[in-house]
Amino acid sequence: MEHPYFEYTDVDRRFFEERLAARLPVRLFDAHRHVQLPEHLDPAREPFRRGAFPEEIAGPESVEQARLGYEIMFPGREVEMLAFGMPATNCDCAAANAYVSEALAGSGSVGLALNPPHWSAERLLEELRRPAIIGVKPYERLLQGFEGGDLSVFEFLPHEHLELLDGLGGWLTLHLPRRERLADPANISEILEIRRRYPNIVLVIAHLGRSYAGRYAREGFPPLADDPGILFDNSAVLNPAVHALALDRFGPERIMWASDQPVFYMRGRRRWEGDRYINLTSGDYSWNTDRQPPEVEATYTLSLYEAMAACLDTILALGWGDAEIEAVFHGNARRLVDRVLARKERW
Ligand SMILES: [Zn+2]
Repeated sequence: MEHPYFEYTDVDRRFFEERLAARLPVRLFDAHRHVQLPEHLDPAREPFRRGAFPEEIAGPESVEQARLGYEIMFPGREVEMLAFGMPATNCDCAAANAYVSEALAGSGSVGLALNPPHWSAERLLEELRRPAIIGVKPYERLLQGFEGGDLSVFEFLPHEHLELLDGLGGWLTLHLPRRERLADPANISEILEIRRRYPNIVLVIAHLGRSYAGRYAREGFPPLADDPGILFDNSAVLNPAVHALALDRFGPERIMWASDQPVFYMRGRRRWEGDRYINLTSGDYSWNTDRQPPEVEATYTLSLYEAMAACLDTILALGWGDAEIEAVFHGNARRLVDRVLARKERW
């Protein structure tokens, strides 16, 4: 069966064999990925767009397609996931949550609910009681009338939601707001405030705090290093230096591998210049202006493979081995998910 968003090539097969296969554990847990059906998006409502790169790469990916993608990319591996809808402004969040719940219930995989900030705690509790839903994935775009700009976390993740989640001991994967990401002291102080006021929440900062370039990691990681209860997913990070700083500051036990699919079916590499990253890709996207000679582009593999290789190589280069790789790529997420699932029996 073919996947709608990527074609698996000999370059990919070789990259997997040479860079990933020997070290990757038999079981993987993808701690951050999106699943959606096209009907969850309202075509009559124009979604807010930041001009970001992901939109042209892939449309909505169903749970079935997600599983097919894993099967193609990770032969012989068993992959479970923590999945949630794509937080577009024209998304029907309740429908997306219901889909995630129904599609994952009874499997080893689980989901998070999208939680628009105008929902009451009672409304959110209904979502959290759906089978296989273990927490929330808030997003600034889900604030009604959002038009970009810097927001406080608490504007799109109200204290009412946090109190509910803390009482339940649920999961929160937090995509940080603000242009300065993890280098913004306001984001740091809000993360610490969540930890202080809502200590029972399993708090996971998405994309290593959106530290795709080095300065965000250099400035943002140290003030979060001392609290073992601040966890991270490393999705969308290709930068080996950022993986190294994260592993060194937080240790492998606080980091979870994640794909952020379907975006990283994109084929290519990244280059960094100051605070920017440049996606070098062979994709026929309108923003793709950094083209390389065809013989170079012919060597591009899936960006997800590049991100995983960067993480794997860094774990080994820092002197760790298979135990730490297993923790990052499977064990950490599995253990935390199981902890929340045990609490969920009382929700
Ligand atoms: Zn994401």
